[in-house]
Amino acid sequence: MAERPSSDAQSGRQILIRGGRVYDHDGDIDDPPVRDILIRGSRIVSVTAPDEDSELKQEIVSRAVISDEARVIEARGKLVIPGFVNSHYHSYDVLAKGLLEDMPFDVWALHSQPAYFGSRSRAELRIRTLLGALECIRNGITTLQDMNSLVPQDEETLDVILSAYAEIGVRVVFSIAVRDVGALDIAPFLPPDVSEAAMAIIRGAPKDAREEIAFVERQIKRLTPLPPRLTWGLSPSGPQRSSRALLEGVSDLAQRFGLPIFTHVYETKAQTAKARAIYGEHAGSMIRYLAAVGLLTPRTTIAHGVWLTRDEIAIMAEHRAGVAHNPISNLKLKSGVAPMHAAMQAGVRVALGCDNCSCGDSQSMFQAMKMFCLLAAVTDPNPTGVRAADAIKAATLGGAQAMNLEGEIGALRAGMKADLVVIDLDDVAWQPLNSAARQLVFSEAGRGVETTIVDGEIVMFERKIATIDEAALRDELASLMPTFRRDFANVAEANREAIPYLLAANERLKSHDVGINRFVAL
Ligand SMILES: [Zn+2]
Repeated sequence: MAERPSSDAQSGRQILIRGGRVYDHDGDIDDPPVRDILIRGSRIVSVTAPDEDSELKQEIVSRAVISDEARVIEARGKLVIPGFVNSHYHSYDVLAKGLLEDMPFDVWALHSQPAYFGSRSRAELRIRTLLGALECIRNGITTLQDMNSLVPQDEETLDVILSAYAEIGVRVVFSIAVRDVGALDIAPFLPPDVSEAAMAIIRGAPKDAREEIAFVERQIKRLTPLPPRLTWGLSPSGPQRSSRALLEGVSDLAQRFGLPIFTHVYETKAQTAKARAIYGEHAGSMIRYLAAVGLLTPRTTIAHGVWLTRDEIAIMAEHRAGVAHNPISNLKLKSGVAPMHAAMQAGVRVALGCDNCSCGDSQSMFQAMKMFCLLAAVTDPNPTGVRAADAIKAATLGGAQAMNLEGEIGALRAGMKADLVVIDLDDVAWQPLNSAARQLVFSEAGRGVETTIVDGEIVMFERKIATIDEAALRDELASLMPTFRRDFANVAEANREAIPYLLAANERLKSHDVGINRFVAL
């Protein structure tokens, strides 16, 4: 990658990360060589062997003693990797971590969708945003894609969330999730005896496509440019939750503002069955429909894709659209196993995500990478070519492509943004060190993550968060939780009547033929 001159590479603070093993996707991924990384401002200036540019490095070491404008991070015995990109995440239910289990998707939705909770305090919006970002930073995630459903959908709610992100210093591609069809995806498969009260819960509230698009456009215009590290994305929640007018409106915004698009596609069998029913003109395919409305583009990343067919994978490859694979939430919500090695083999770009805190319970790319590799065995007992290095690429370069930040993040090269993570190789996960790539994916659980740098800013140094007061955050969180827990219990109680009908619908879907299967038959 050519070194790119830029204003912030000429000026700003210098950081020298000295003597670490630096992970290069195209280098020795088992035994990465020792390299020094020089950062100036927000960008990497050079990645060099210890004996190169000695005078310049010595000058930085000397200057660091007397000036805050230079800093040296000793990384001997450590691994330096590009920061992970969490390509599918929602921050609205961070406080529901650990509250739910053993629920299929639509039952989970009853307990987690922001619309059921109504408006939240500014303090809660801020704390939940910070807490989710904090977990990302502690797990080596430097960029996240927050697909956020704003309730209420207003400027104040948006501003509180964005300012929390600016405060903690993580890189965020933020999208406002829009939809104008209110009903749960499984609604068409409910048994005929569904009660009126249950139907009222499941039906949701429709919205106006023009108003949804106008709100998003107003916010993009009002808040461009966003503070450093924040950029915009666009998100129709899912094609089946959107009218054609809404999707065309998103496509128009994407073209006019040059933005990436993130949307949920084929997460569940119910969504697939619904696609077969409502997209008759497009062979029952949500992917063909997306292509028809102009939303299957090189800037489009679909979340999940569990129920993609081989044909649809080929169409995605043709349109150079990508997928954000969320192996943990797919399993926790009983959605099935996504055909990701088939997608990889077809040349579809694959990114990885950790999804909601209430359906994955952990913002850990280590879990996502490991599961990405292991799940290939569910459908194929032979080698599939899905290897640790591929998982690392999906978690970094794949994410960078999805975020429309290719060439900026995802690798440690001169000219790229300084988004990186220092991992302690003394941790038992790395003893003995046989392969950096394989141990990063199969052994590391997050314990070794020591220092996280985003955009040239040190957001965590030797496990201490540098941007916010973590103890104060915990105190404020504790003071908010009685209200959250009470409201969570009230939502669960208010929606309880719908659960048996949703489970009955899910049961009916088991034998419903959609042409493919994403569960293992016993
Ligand atoms: Zn999602």
